[in-house]
Amino acid sequence: MYIDDTIAAIATAPGEGGIGIVRISGKQSLDIAEDIFKSVSGKKIKEYNPRTLIYGNILEDDKIVDEVLVAYMKAPYTYTKEDVIEINCHGGFLSVKKILELVLKKGARLAEPGEFTKRAFLNGRIDLSQAEAVIDVIRAKTDLSYDIAQNQLEGSLSSQIKKLRDKATEILAHIEVSIDFPDEDVEHITYETLYNKSQELKNDIVKLYETAETGKIMRDGLKTVIVGKPNVGKSSLLNAILKESRAIVTDIPGTTRDVIEEFVNIKGIPLKIIDTAGIRETDDIVEKIGVEKSKEFFEKADLVILVLDASRELSEEDIDILQKIKDRQAIVLINKSDLPSKLDEEIIKEYIDEHRIIKISAIQRIGIEKLEDEIANMVYKGDVSQKNTVMITNIRHKNALKKAIDSINDGIKAIKENMPLDFIEVDFKDVWTYLGEVSGDTVSEDLLDTIFRDFCIGK
Ligand code: GDP
Ligand code: ZN
Repeated sequence: MYIDDTIAAIATAPGEGGIGIVRISGKQSLDIAEDIFKSVSGKKIKEYNPRTLIYGNILEDDKIVDEVLVAYMKAPYTYTKEDVIEINCHGGFLSVKKILELVLKKGARLAEPGEFTKRAFLNGRIDLSQAEAVIDVIRAKTDLSYDIAQNQLEGSLSSQIKKLRDKATEILAHIEVSIDFPDEDVEHITYETLYNKSQELKNDIVKLYETAETGKIMRDGLKTVIVGKPNVGKSSLLNAILKESRAIVTDIPGTTRDVIEEFVNIKGIPLKIIDTAGIRETDDIVEKIGVEKSKEFFEKADLVILVLDASRELSEEDIDILQKIKDRQAIVLINKSDLPSKLDEEIIKEYIDEHRIIKISAIQRIGIEKLEDEIANMVYKGDVSQKNTVMITNIRHKNALKKAIDSINDGIKAIKENMPLDFIEVDFKDVWTYLGEVSGDTVSEDLLDTIFRDFCIGK
């Protein structure tokens, strides 16, 4: 692929800020910059060493547009591997906009979302999984999800995929030698060896594939819904978790009219937490909307937290919800455990594992830590060391690995049935191809468009 045009965009976030940056990438970058910039020293940009910040002004028809610092980064050691110019101007909407317009007038084209990163990929500086990690780094919600994205950006997933592909190549090479020189005195692979090697490769791919569940949560958050009848302490719980008073807490049942959504960091897990108006029948129209919504959230949630009131006996409503969460990923909280208990815990145990039942006091902030531990346990599946390994956070990667696993299963089946080698070869070529989809070695133009459409402009 050959990229000829020069692109430009505002690289900083919109709104007021100390500085704004206009970024240009491509062959014409330097010419455009020389054309609109006048350094205070009177020297041209190209007379300076690349990567020097040069002080001066952007001019249009001899009129100063803004006072700026310009940096010229010479290909190939740049973000895109092309010539890059960055103009640091005053923050705010107008300065960056005026400078960008001027740059476009001089021949650059407005960059599409993610196009700088796309060029970094097309020009071979990073692979596709690294390009995708750029957006994950930008959007990371907790330190841990940031670390995972940062690892991926550094190429940890890329090198893992490369190892898997090398193994597939090795198997393919054995098969091909046996096909091409059937009678000669070369060492031919036995079906048994082939089987063992394939099984080994399969295990490695599956192991990576299985990180996808946790990985997705780390990237997108664990959708969590708090349910329970009115006045059990749902909002108080949310407040205790948020450690700040955002939700409205009162003694009147049903004051949580709408749905409140918050992100909280639970031991590195981004918990997308939702407090609902409670699942119950009501005639109140406004509340009904909340109830409708809460039903919808309930269905879609990854984790359901049911709050019960220790100071009241279990009601039909409680039992009703307990029944609904029986087959779900759920935690039952017995709130108000600071008050004398009237709740029969034995009944609750019929619906949910004992270790998923936690006594808390939202008001006194007792038991919140235990709740956080249980959530972390659920997500990390008791394996906190997962924190350090490479994780599949991206659905596209997950799907590609799934296809690789399906193909290797086909291959293993063919080996077991002693099928001809050229038949088996096809499956392993597929394994190799599907693994390559993750790193972008085998990828379509359409897919690239879909991936980079998700980026912000200027990245
Ligand atoms: P919601 O309707 O389920 O959201 O319940 P709220 O959070 O609005 O709480 C209802 C009432 O229960 C309020 O008066 C709270 O102060 C009280 N409450 C909540 N948590 C506790 C608790 O742990 N102990 C006690 N004693 N009262 C609580
Ligand atoms: Zn509430």
